[in-house]
Amino acid sequence: MEKCKRCGLKTVLSESDIDKMVDEVMAMKGVRLADENVYLKRFEACEECDKLMYGSTCAVCGCVMQVRARLADGRCPKKKW
Ligand code: SF4
Repeated sequence: MEKCKRCGLKTVLSESDIDKMVDEVMAMKGVRLADENVYLKRFEACEECDKLMYGSTCAVCGCVMQVRARLADGRCPKKKW
C-alpha cells in the first residue's frame, strides 16, 4: 500500500475508504455541511482541476475533496470555489 510521505496515510483511497471518511465527518458533532448541490458543484470543479490526484486528493492542500467540499466552511486553496 502506497503511503503519503508526509502524513503516513494511504495515498490512493478506495471508494469504501472515502465513504468511511465521509460518514465519520458527517457524524461529527458541530460539523456544518454544505448543501448537496453546493457540494456537487464544488466537486465538479475539482474533477476538472489538474491538482486533483487519484480522483480524491487535492495536491495543493492534501485534503480528500469528497470530504472538504462537503463542509460548509470548506474552501478551495486556489479559489476555484
Ligand atoms: S480544491 Fe481547488 S485546487 Fe484543489 S483540486 Fe479542488 S479545485 Fe483544484
